[in-house]
Amino acid sequence: MAHRYPDFINISHDDLRELVDKLHFGQKVERAKRLLAWAFNEYGDNAVVANSLGKDSMVVWDLAVKVNPNAKGFIVTTAYKPAETIVFMNEIAAEYPNLSIYRSDKDVGDLYRSNPDQCCQVLKVEPVRRAVEELDVECWITGLRCTEGRTRTDFREIEERDKGLIKLNPVLLFTEREVWQYLALNKVKINPLYALGYRSLGCAPCTAIAGGDNERAGRWLNTSKCGGECGIHTQPLKKLGVLSDEATPVGH
Ligand code: SF4
Repeated sequence: MAHRYPDFINISHDDLRELVDKLHFGQKVERAKRLLAWAFNEYGDNAVVANSLGKDSMVVWDLAVKVNPNAKGFIVTTAYKPAETIVFMNEIAAEYPNLSIYRSDKDVGDLYRSNPDQCCQVLKVEPVRRAVEELDVECWITGLRCTEGRTRTDFREIEERDKGLIKLNPVLLFTEREVWQYLALNKVKINPLYALGYRSLGCAPCTAIAGGDNERAGRWLNTSKCGGECGIHTQPLKKLGVLSDEATPVGH
């Protein structure tokens, strides 16, 4: 089925970057809601939110259930998540039965030390692939933001990196401050680890408190993967998927 993309996303990458500064908070929230409404209208139950339980995902989840109270989502967890994250996950999952939890039970030992890319592949990417297949996802909705670290600058609000799987990034233009602004104004629950100083959360052995400009600097600290990605945004997620070298922005 051919999908019609909203006209307002049909802009260049440079214009998109400009919009980060040009649009005010209220306009970004409205834009995110329009993107979500478009996705639920076009893909129905096949539009599914990937909820990492991080601050950006909690914004997206809150917006998604406001736009569509029946929104579905999935959480991927691992045996290495901090205890606080597990408690938070159970609380959120109890509140929203439409959130399914995925996890790999493979024992990877200390692979996170010797080969963190492989560890993330087994514990994160594979369960996301399973979620995409089992939930029959045609459009997955993420909390990606283009100002969140070195690896996140070239994404689009709607893209098709993985052939046959649309990706919607409704808060792509939000800054870190605007994420906190949204969470505070809407009284959205957050992982208590943020109160300790963490700015980006992952598995316990690979997450540290770090200052500086790079919000993701505390991820995989002191490894070549520092500030990088677990792979769910860079690996093909469809079983027989083909990953483009670059994002294929839709509407272009
Ligand atoms: S974040 Fe660390 S422990 Fe978690 S899957 Fe990746 S390498 Fe493994």
